Amino acid sequence: MTSTPVAAAPSRTKRVLLAAPRGYCAGVDRAVVTVQKALDLYGPPVYVRKEIVHNKHVVTTLEKRGAIFVEETDEVPEGATVIFSAHGVAPVVHEEAAALKLKTIDATCPLVTKVHREAVRFASDDFDILLIGHEGHEEVVGTAGEAPEHITLVQSPDHVDEVTVRDPEKVVWLSQTTLSVDETMETVRRLREKFPKLQDPPSDDICYATQNRQLAVKQMAPDTDLMIVVGSRNSSNSVRLVEVALEHGSRAGHLVDYADEIDESWLDGVTTVGVTSGASVPEVLVRDVLDYLAARGYEDVTAVQAAQESLLFALPNELRRDLKLAGNGDDKVRHDAGALR
Ligand code: SF4
Repeated sequence: MTSTPVAAAPSRTKRVLLAAPRGYCAGVDRAVVTVQKALDLYGPPVYVRKEIVHNKHVVTTLEKRGAIFVEETDEVPEGATVIFSAHGVAPVVHEEAAALKLKTIDATCPLVTKVHREAVRFASDDFDILLIGHEGHEEVVGTAGEAPEHITLVQSPDHVDEVTVRDPEKVVWLSQTTLSVDETMETVRRLREKFPKLQDPPSDDICYATQNRQLAVKQMAPDTDLMIVVGSRNSSNSVRLVEVALEHGSRAGHLVDYADEIDESWLDGVTTVGVTSGASVPEVLVRDVLDYLAARGYEDVTAVQAAQESLLFALPNELRRDLKLAGNGDDKVRHDAGALR
């Protein structure tokens, strides 16, 4: 495989542009390894509230190892171990778990926790918080639960007209971590037209991984006839990648969980295929897509490197403590993840 910013000239030879970065982010890596290590340490079953990350393959693989995924805390037997997903939970969920005497391990991504802390701080300063995000998404439910009386959800630029606040002098916007950067900036622009004193978050809420994966797709899209995004339909950042590809010049774009979901007809008349994957997608699934394409003549693969990533998060404190007590103090992620990388 070669690596260039993007091929300079149009090519008539079938080829693949492969996005980098793609796939696992630091928060997903940490969450998946948390479930794996909890299964190793405590033995199955280990309960997980909601999908640990939004990827079908990851969830089914962990289920086979003994993880039990539940929707709500009250489905977990009293005294059992429950892991909270990377998307975060509202404080009330911690209270429910305590009432059931559950042993909890919080795999909330630290970058989601950062947004929770911002919400708590601005609420304590009596701001109205305009949270840009998608209604019902677990991350939004968790963040909004930190200060429900202060938070108003703004789903898109078109919803700005409906937004009201108590005091236009004390308004701040925060956002879900996995949104489209461009659409979010448009929502903020319209909010600022309406509320000129609108404050920005202290730092970007849309996380580095979401931004980098969108950046790579923006670079590739004008040169691609078809963009294949590997990811699940309930994965916000994966769905955004298809949208970004289409907005920036891909003639077609599709989201697939597995290579066998690719429809042969998508390749009709296609010279350049772009391939990327959402932040919750193991690389093994991308390799399957590349194999599928290679078998159909798309063997020439060029990486499009939009950014370098090296961030790693330590495992949750509760798990690190128990690993240490068991004589395994190794809390680094990105190892021992087997088929899930
Ligand atoms: S997509 Fe971003 S916020 Fe979500 S788990 Fe990954 S690093 Fe954390």
